[in-house]
Amino acid sequence: MEKLFFYLAFFVFGTIIGSFLNVLIYRLPRGKSPLKPAFSFCPSCGSPIKWYDNIPLLSYLILRGKCRNCGGKIGFRYFFVELLTGVASVVSYLKTGLSYEYIFVFGFLAIIIAITFIDVDFKIIPDQLNLAGFVLGVIYTFIRDDFTILDGIIGAVVGAGFLWGIAYIYLKTRGIEGLGMGDVKMMAFVGMYLGWFGALFTIFFGSLIGAVVGIAAAYLSRSEDKGRFEIPFGPFLALAAVIYMFFGDTIKGWYFGGMG
Ligand SMILES: [Zn+2]
Repeated sequence: MEKLFFYLAFFVFGTIIGSFLNVLIYRLPRGKSPLKPAFSFCPSCGSPIKWYDNIPLLSYLILRGKCRNCGGKIGFRYFFVELLTGVASVVSYLKTGLSYEYIFVFGFLAIIIAITFIDVDFKIIPDQLNLAGFVLGVIYTFIRDDFTILDGIIGAVVGAGFLWGIAYIYLKTRGIEGLGMGDVKMMAFVGMYLGWFGALFTIFFGSLIGAVVGIAAAYLSRSEDKGRFEIPFGPFLALAAVIYMFFGDTIKGWYFGGMG
């Protein structure tokens, strides 16, 4: 029973952060301040949303996804991001228990969620998110017992450097920019958390998922210029990084276990 209470508390806290992530996802790529104004607007009529209509998950259900003022549709995405962040919070708690580590693991997931949705919409990753993640990763090294700040720095350099190298070769050989600097900076943040092996896993596994999805999407779209079909890379890096965050020890075991 007590356990259930903790799950519920962490879930509710996660949905509140998810509600804030919705604000960031909307405002950051549009160059708006994440904190001012403090209240949210209806995207259709621009009227401020009252606090009682801004309760995570519940308000969306009660208002059936519509603005109380104008009846304009509020995307299911808002609900989904709140739900996903709530689940991310519970999963972080399951990994860390009641400890300061929760803040850093959940912070990692929250930033990854914001990056994913912004990159899908705008094909950019805001510097503020990469920087926030990197700083959080640096602070985290001071309370981790499996990881030093040097491991983090090596991870950041290997992750960002390797992806930058791929982007450079791609540009030189094909004459087009295949990867954005946002992805490179994201790998500095991810590497600071996951170390060099985790960073390389993220790039390789992210590329693999991205290639499969990219080929499927290009095939399904039946567009004329299949070769130039553009999909953002950030969400695939994000998915691979989250897998490593939770299953990194197992993955490392498989990889290095074979080498004796
Ligand atoms: Zn409205």
